Amino acid sequence: MTTSPEIAAIVDAIRVRQRFVLSSHARPDGDSIGSQLAMAYALKALGKEAVVINADPAPPPLLAFPGVPEIRIAAEATGPYDAAIIMECGNLARTGVGGLERYFVINIDHHPGNTNFGQINWFDASASACGELVYDVVGALGVPLSIDIATHVYLAILTDTGSFHYSNITPRTFAIAGACIAAGVDPVAVARNVYDSNNMGRLKLFGAVLSAMQIDQTGRIAIVYLDHEMAREAGGTYEDTEGLINLPLTVKEIEAVVFFKQIEGEQYRVSMRSKGDIDVGGVAKTFGGGGHKNAAGCTVSGAIDALQKLFIAKIEDAIDGRPADR
Ligand code: 5GP
Ligand code: MN
Repeated sequence: MTTSPEIAAIVDAIRVRQRFVLSSHARPDGDSIGSQLAMAYALKALGKEAVVINADPAPPPLLAFPGVPEIRIAAEATGPYDAAIIMECGNLARTGVGGLERYFVINIDHHPGNTNFGQINWFDASASACGELVYDVVGALGVPLSIDIATHVYLAILTDTGSFHYSNITPRTFAIAGACIAAGVDPVAVARNVYDSNNMGRLKLFGAVLSAMQIDQTGRIAIVYLDHEMAREAGGTYEDTEGLINLPLTVKEIEAVVFFKQIEGEQYRVSMRSKGDIDVGGVAKTFGGGGHKNAAGCTVSGAIDALQKLFIAKIEDAIDGRPADR
């Protein structure tokens, strides 16, 4: 198990406090849900109060996991908490939950560029998932790895590694996943819940979006697009697009994907994915967003044709090793 001054500080801060609010980023994914709930179960095992507050609900495939129905959805944290534990967020605004800055903030994250916004900050970009860091905290707290904690740590790792697919995987990733299985987690059941419990609207929406996919002139970048009208016609929702962005990367020649999702009018959520050394995190950063080398996002406004050209040019730069901010 990893021990560090940061973990020791987190353990000390938790021991002397009783009431905790936990939060993570808006539009939570498997790592944010898994990290928060693993931590919440560990705090409860110590006899502490732990409330998870998120700006948005968990995506439908995650609703079956223990503790997810108790997550509170709110724009503001107002309770009398002794500390806020924030996981998976580069800055406090990423939570979409107001009022957290009023508490003693413990910041646990693995995203490059974390702004050290807490009173205690533990940031480790070498972790494949924030869930790896939570696993270390749970161990350092002396809390046994219950099946509920292990399930959420495993969920975090499974989803943030893209089913053990991405470049940030280390021997520790498998050691922790192995400990979770030894604690009783059923990897088949978890995978079925996460990947094989979708609705028909989602499949139709995937079909519609992939039919309209474009490829850049070099043949290396896939451009996918979704607006509200396409979603309505297919009978799916924006939440149903979770995971869609990874599909173009299954084509050998495709090295990066950019996905534009209309928010309203000419405002778009942009998600990017890449293979190997291609740094789409740097591209997202030039548009005020962020993320990891192989998975990043931002929000932009403008005419869609011009935006697509701009992103393709930046991603081509990234593929060819030119800096994103040139
Ligand atoms: P997604 O494409 O799934 O929304 O995000 C991929 C990754 O990029 C996630 O790790 C997420 O935390 C990060 N990310 C996405 N959008 C933003 C953003 O607007 N700002 C920052 N800082 N990171 C983002
Ligand atoms: Mn993560």
